[in-house]
Order: sequence, then C-alpha cells, then structure tokens
Amino acid sequence: MRILVIGSGGREHALCWKISQSVKCSKIYCAPGNGGIRHIAEVVDIEADNIDALLKFAKENRIDFTVVGPEVPLVKGIVDKFQKEGLKVFGPTAKLAAIEGSKIFAKSLMKKAGVPTAAFEVFDNIDSALKYAAAKKLPLVVKADGLCAGKGVVICKAQDELRSALKSMLVDKAFGTAGEKVIIEDCLVGEEASIIVISDGKNVMPLASSQDHKRIFDGDMGPNTGGMGAYSPAPVITNELFKKIIDTIIYPVINTLAKDGMPYKGVLYAGIMVTKDGPFVLEFNARFGDPETQAIMPRLKSDLVEIMERAVDGRLDGFFIDWDPRPCVSVVLASGGYPNKYDKGMEIKGLDEAAVMKDVMIFHAGTRKGRRAADSDKLLITAGGRVLNVTALGDDLQKAIDNCYNAVRAIHFDKMHYRRDIGAKAMGRKK
Ligand code: AMP
Repeated sequence: MRILVIGSGGREHALCWKISQSVKCSKIYCAPGNGGIRHIAEVVDIEADNIDALLKFAKENRIDFTVVGPEVPLVKGIVDKFQKEGLKVFGPTAKLAAIEGSKIFAKSLMKKAGVPTAAFEVFDNIDSALKYAAAKKLPLVVKADGLCAGKGVVICKAQDELRSALKSMLVDKAFGTAGEKVIIEDCLVGEEASIIVISDGKNVMPLASSQDHKRIFDGDMGPNTGGMGAYSPAPVITNELFKKIIDTIIYPVINTLAKDGMPYKGVLYAGIMVTKDGPFVLEFNARFGDPETQAIMPRLKSDLVEIMERAVDGRLDGFFIDWDPRPCVSVVLASGGYPNKYDKGMEIKGLDEAAVMKDVMIFHAGTRKGRRAADSDKLLITAGGRVLNVTALGDDLQKAIDNCYNAVRAIHFDKMHYRRDIGAKAMGRKK
C-alpha cells in the first residue's frame, strides 16, 4: 500500500516509523514531514490543514491509505472530503472530531453517556458566567469551546484570574470564534494519564496506557506546553482501573455515538484524572497524543497498518494487539524559551551517536535539513519549539529512564532545554 501520513511532529515521525515496519506498506509519503521523517518517507511540501491540496496529491499519487496526525484537518473535515472521493482514510469525520473540536459537544456527549466528568455549565456572556462562578468554590476551570492550540484552558485559583480569563475569551475574543462560548467546570484533583484507543465504530482496541508531562519545568512547574515527555505504561493505571476506564468511559461514548447513527472510527484519546473517587474525563482528543505516541509505538509489536485498516473497515472484533512488556520513556528536547519566544536554526549535534545506542529511537519534531554548501545532507537544524523526542525502551522503568537520558546527553544544540524528571513520578509510585 502507498500510505500518506499527514503532519510534521514527533507523533507523525513515530507513526511513519511504525508504518514503515508493516508488510502491507510499500511506500510512505508524509505531508509536510520534518528533517527526520524524510529518511523514512518521501516528504511532500503541503501543510497539514491544506485539505484541497492534500486531496489532489492523494488522487494524483494513487494513495491507498491516509493517516491523519493532527486535530485541525480532522475538525476541518479532511476525512469527509477524502471519503467522498472514495479514498480510504483513518480518522473520524468532522461531526465526530467535534469530540475534540468542541468542548461543549464533548461535555454534552459525556453527560448523555453517563461518563464521569467534572460538573460544568456553558456560557456566552461574562455577567452570567461571573454570577455562576460567584456561587461556586475556587479553583474553577475556564475552557474555550473550540480549538486553541492547547491554550484555551485556564485553571483559576482566584477571582481576578477567573474574571480575566472570562474577559479575554468572551469580551476581548482572544481566541476568536473558538472562545465565543466557554465552559466553567469544577477543578479535579489527582494524577493524570492518557488512555488511547482505536475504534471501528463498534469495537474498541485499547493501546497501552501512558502519561504526558505538560509543564515546561521539572516537578510539573512553569507554563503548559504541548508536552515535554511521556512514558508507557502509566503505573497509576492499574489493570483494574484500565478495565474500568474502558467499560465506564470508552464504551459508553462509542455506544452512545453508534446509537445516534454516528459510528466513531479512528483514535479516541481520553485525558483522564484519576481522583480519589475514581477516573474522570478531562478531555477527549480525536487523534493520537503527542508525545504519548512516541512512547507507545516502540512497544507495539502488532502491525499498526493492519489495526488502522481494520478500524476503517469495521473489523476490529476478535483482533488482539501484541505488546512489548518493556516500559518506554520519551523525553522532549526543546528550544530554550519554549513555550514562549525561542530561536530556530541551531545546529543539532550528536544525533548519530545517540541513534545507535541500544533500544534508543529518536523521533524528530521541529527539525529540518540545514543549508551548508559542503555537507548539506548531514547538517540538521532546529525548526520549532519542541525539537526531538529521545525515546528508549528498558528491561524495567529505571533502565528505560537511564537508556533515554544517556542518549539525551549525547545530543546538543544551543540553548537546548529538557526535563530531567520524565519517569520519576512512575518510579515514585512503584516504590
Ligand atoms: P484539556 O485541554 O481540557 O485537557 O485541559 C488541559 C489541561 O488542563 C489538562 O491536561 C489538565 O492538566 C488541566 N485541566 C483541564 N480540566 C481540568 C479540571 N477540570 N480540573 C483540573 N485540571 C484540569
């Protein structure tokens, strides 16, 4: 099969890497790809949200199967458009990608399906929002309804924070139409984990559990980022809890949508808060997590292409996934200053040395080929805030952590920043 992967991050590199191992795959294209992906796929210079150009490319290049990485093209209806042209594509339609594209859709669905989630109300007017909040205990969480590139959630510990979050979204329209409506919800306390499943509309194939690290600094300090590292499995998700999440969260959502005539095909990602009262859903995503995918794919022994094809065809029933039992740790190497202002164009050194280390995989996120006349093919430079995902398996979690950080230490670029505690929370739990 000729496979097109859409996206340009570490997630897409991990997906291309796994897809490249499939016996079903004869050629991979990636649009737009990055400096690492180009070694395993032919990169195509089309942005991930340019749906018309992607469709034209897929038709002209006889693409057999398309895998959509990021949420924006899904929410914009790429699956609907590809399907209409008879092209096979992995992901939910726009109506269903609203599970990520609209917090209000997701919360209403959870309410209907009886899925545990924080109590909430919807507002489009600051006065009624403030009146509601005045009667509640702080902290409260304000969420813009639409997609805001991970910036639409504010945890408000004080009244002035709440007022300014609401003003910024509802009055100043900081997120445009995405913030015209907001949710105010109760703040949950606990440990977060990600449960990612693949669904064929009826059956569910859970992937291994994982845990992301959202904050920029060690000890979960500093501002939120796109994710600074991940590990899989997440020890907070015991086997019993895993089953409970699948039975009381994932299946009720999939069944409710199917009953409403909207079978959900593709990835369903549940961001879970494990509270003292059990698991609660923080959010749903309609695609693979980034950086969780980078920690999950190295553990997947089964053929990813077969799983995705079965999901599209409605044939997941009776299929079993084979996992490498060894834990996997993935650390993000970021540009200094990220998630705020940072420089690009820094030369990356030490990758070859790190890449040959045992059980180490390096997934690129923000990299591109440099332009040095003499050996331009060798020069790799930074091209984003999150630059690399250094990933390693290990016989146990401590070994995975050690393998990963050994590889990290071999790599260098100017102003490189990374968290030194990826995996530490899981180690603490084990002890
Ligand atoms: P979301 O995009 O809804 O997952 O929110 C982003 C992050 O905000 C989550 O990963 C949590 O760390 C935090 N968050 C969201 N909702 C809540 C909540 N109700 N209580 C506590 N933290 C939350």
